[in-house]
Order: sequence, then C-alpha cells, then structure tokens
Amino acid sequence: KKKEQLCSKESLVKILRWHFRYPDFRGMQLEAIQAVLSGRDCFCLMPTGGGKSMCYQIPALAKTGIVLVVCPLIALMENQVMALKEKGIAAEFLSSTKTADAKNKIHEDLDSGKPSIRLLYVTPELIATPGFMSKLKKIYSRGLLSLIAIDEAHCISSWGHDFRPSYRKLSTLRSHLPDVPILALTATAVPKVQKDVVDSLQMQNALMLKTSFNRPNIYYEVRYKDLLEDAYADLSDTLKSMGDVCVIIYCLERSMCDDLSAHLSQSGISCAAYHAGLNNKMRTSVLDDWISSKTKVVVATVAFGYGIDRKDVRIVCHFNIPKSMESFYQESGRAGRDQLPSTSLLYYGVDDRKRMEFILRNSGSKKSQSSNSQESTRMSLTAFNQMLEYCEGSGCRRKKILESFGEQVTASLCGKTCDSCRHPNLVARNLEDLTAACSLRQKGGSRVFITSSTDAIVGEQLSEFWNRDEEASGSEEDISDLDEGNEVVNNLARSKVQSRLGINEKLDLLQRAEEKYYRNENTNKQSNKVDKNAISDALRGS
Ligand code: ADP
Ligand code: ZN
Repeated sequence: KKKEQLCSKESLVKILRWHFRYPDFRGMQLEAIQAVLSGRDCFCLMPTGGGKSMCYQIPALAKTGIVLVVCPLIALMENQVMALKEKGIAAEFLSSTKTADAKNKIHEDLDSGKPSIRLLYVTPELIATPGFMSKLKKIYSRGLLSLIAIDEAHCISSWGHDFRPSYRKLSTLRSHLPDVPILALTATAVPKVQKDVVDSLQMQNALMLKTSFNRPNIYYEVRYKDLLEDAYADLSDTLKSMGDVCVIIYCLERSMCDDLSAHLSQSGISCAAYHAGLNNKMRTSVLDDWISSKTKVVVATVAFGYGIDRKDVRIVCHFNIPKSMESFYQESGRAGRDQLPSTSLLYYGVDDRKRMEFILRNSGSKKSQSSNSQESTRMSLTAFNQMLEYCEGSGCRRKKILESFGEQVTASLCGKTCDSCRHPNLVARNLEDLTAACSLRQKGGSRVFITSSTDAIVGEQLSEFWNRDEEASGSEEDISDLDEGNEVVNNLARSKVQSRLGINEKLDLLQRAEEKYYRNENTNKQSNKVDKNAISDALRGS
C-alpha cells in the first residue's frame, strides 16, 4: 500500500513541483521513476536534453536511503551537485579533486546510521576500488542504498563510440549489491549497444524506455566546401546574418580551431578557440566567457560541450565531418536545448572525408595488427559511412539521422526542417557539383568547385525563380517552361564547375538570364517559349 502511494503520479509530481518548480514530467520520466521506485531495473534511452537526471533525482527525494550516481566526468558531477545543493538537496560527490577533509566528512556521513546525503555521485574508477565497494556493501546491508543510476551507460560497451574501460568494472555491482535496482541512462545507443549495456550490468527484466531521438526544433543543413577561405567567409557571413547568438563550432584539430577563430574574430565576430592545447586557466576563462555570453562563438575540438548546460545554443556547426552519426547527433544536439528553433550546420569537403578515413584506418593499426584492432577499424569505418551517407545523400537529413538509431520514420515527419526537404533542387544541384568535383579531382584536377552561402544565395534566387515559374505556369502546357527554369539551374551549376565565378559574376549572370527570360516571355507571349540561346549566352557571359 505504502509503495503504491510512493509511486503515485500525484505524489511524484508534487515532489517535482516543490523541488524543481517544473509543472509536469516530460517524455518518459514518470515511467522510469515509477519503475525504479518499485524496485525494477530500467534502461532509459533519451536524447541529450531529454531530462535523464530527473529519473534518479526524483527517486532520491521520494524514498529514504541513498541514490548512487555513477558519472564519467568530474566536471559533470560537480555541475549537478552544485545545482542540487542550490535547491537545498543533499547531494555530494567523491572524486580525486576533493580535499582529504571534505572526503572524510562525506565518509562520516555515509558511515552514520542515518546519512543525510540523498544523492552520492562517484566515478566508475572509485567503484572499482575494494575499499569503496565494501563501504557500499555496508550501506546496502543497512538497507540504505535505494538505487544505482549509471549515467552515460553506453560507455560500458566496446561497441559504443565512447567506450571507457573503467565502466567495465561496473558489471560487478549486481553481484555485490543484488537487490538494488539499476537505472542505466544514455543518449546514444544503437540496439547492439543497448543489449550490451543490459547484459554487462546484469540487469534483469529491465523496463526498456526509449524516447524518439527526433529533435524537431533543430534545422539540419549540409554545405559543401572546397577552398578554406571560401568556407571561412561563408561561415562568417552566416554567423553575421544570424545576429548575436550563441554558437559552438567544432573542428577536427586544434590548429584549425585557432585558425578559424582568428579569421572570425578578424571579421568582427565575438569568438574564442577552446582545445586541449590551451592551459587550464585559459580554458576556464574561455568557457566562463562563453557561458556568461561575453563571447558568442566558441571554436572547439569535440571534447567541448560534454555536460555543459547552456540551453540557448542557436547554431552548432561542424566545420569538419564528425566520425560517426552518434557523435554528430550528440554534438549537434547541444543546439536548442531550450526547444527554440536552432540550426545544425555541417561543412562537408572531400578532403575532410579522406582525412577522417585516414585517421580511422590508422588509429586501429597503430596499436597492433591484431584481429581485434582490425575489427575495431572496420567498425569505425562502417560508422563513418553512415555519416557520409548523411552528407552525400539527397534525401531528408532528419530521416537519415533517425533511421541510424533504428527508428521508423514517415516522410512527413520532417516537414521542411532540413535543407533537403526545404530546398530539394538546391541540394540536388550541390550534390551534382560535389560529384563533378570528385571525378575531376580523380582525374588530377584540383579545387574546381565551391559551394557556399554565396552559392546558396544564387541557389535561393534560382529556386525562387524556378518557383515563380511554377506558380506562373500552373497548367500542363507550360511544363516546358518548368524545364527551362531547370535548365537555367543546371547550366549555372555546370558553368560553375567549369570556371570558378565570383559571387558578383554569378549574380550578374543570373540577373541577365532572368531579364532575358522575362523579356522574351513578354514579347513572345504567343509561343510562351524561352529563348534557350539567350539564356545560355548570358550564362556564358557573352
Ligand atoms: P539529459 O541528462 O537527458 O541531457 P538533463 O537531465 O540535463 O538532460 O535535463 C535537461 C534540462 O531539462 C535540465 O535543465 C532539466 O532541469 C530540464 N528538465 C528536466 N526535466 C524537466 C521537466 N519535467 N520539465 C521541464 N524541464 C525539465
Ligand atoms: Zn527533411
């Protein structure tokens, strides 16, 4: 009876409102909370920002005893513990960064028969030490360990993108502490990893909760790049056009972070680089400035952002292609955690593809030639291929993302919230360019194409031009006009591959082509035909 009361929606919502001031639970939070409170294991797959922490924080407040939270990063623990303490909730963390005094205080509390701590955050390394495990057993034997929550649980699986050997040790938790429910939480898990997590932790009859990975407020876009200067200029223009918003730009390498950051700063954007090459002090100051909005744009390597709780990131830009869809999803998912419209913008270049393939091939073979490492190289390349499909395919980007996580997706889900659905012609054209560039490059040519926002502007205008045709024509007889509109697009794409044109030249050409087109249409009403020669003349610049 008491258990039922404990788990009732009303009493849990009361706790949520009282401590966190949120009106109601989100997604599958309530199901997860009720499961673990009733003593059942639970596997919780929720996207970043989905509110996973609430799934163990509420149980800690609803039930007596301690909730143990295993967390991979000290910064992450510190963050959460601080936020909880601010709300008056007794949370602590044990880590190497604590002074002996501070640690002793926590241990004293844990040893007392009536600990005041409700949530105890620890690293997986600590769990693996015999001293700490016997302490846990003592707490357990007094019936004071109510739940074990394992954050970032995918780290336990060597199939995952983020395997941490220290997580492997967590597999002993069940045998040492048999009756404590386990809650595994993750934002990134393909089915294979999910099974691996459940098996490794020896979870039994676990309630499997999975929220859709769709992030409807993120607009997905891929741009193609060749010349670095062009891409720099394009990004800088884009950022300026978006105004004063909070941005993360990811680069593959430190030098690229520095270089891009310098470029953007030079063009007047409030910007800083962040990577492991900076000293601690510098990193902290860059981070603080960004969190407090003193700098708007941070250009970083992928380590940046893990556990950073800034909700109003409007653009996450990948300046180099990520190594897998999981990484991409995780990183781009840092945009729009406030649910407001945001953008994921990825710059894709053929050189980046080659570079990443090189890195993935060599990271396996450097260590050894064992079949194990060959297998892991093969796996990383397979994972990378999914990312390539995202960039090089012409279909809906959102659909590609969700399908890679095993979700079934209907065509209507996206509703023009990716470039491919919003501007199919433009994307198709860009891909044509890309293919042309690739084949030219194989023949020994180099730097043959650019596609950048300058092209996007031309592309926009062309598609507008094209759409205008569509509206103007309407009837079936006029279908040839549609083709002509297409022809303009194609011709321009072709001429762009043949010769690199500046934006002014392109706009000029476009304008002339349009003028001729419409002049022709007006004077030639009866035939209603476009003078093809006039357009191609204009395109050739004659
Ligand atoms: P995750 O760990 O899944 O990435 P968090 O637990 O950090 O997500 O939660 C993301 C944000 O959503 C946090 O700021 C959290 O306070 C907020 N949040 C969690 N649950 C709710 C809720 N039921 N209603 C409103 N906001 C919530
Ligand atoms: Zn789409």
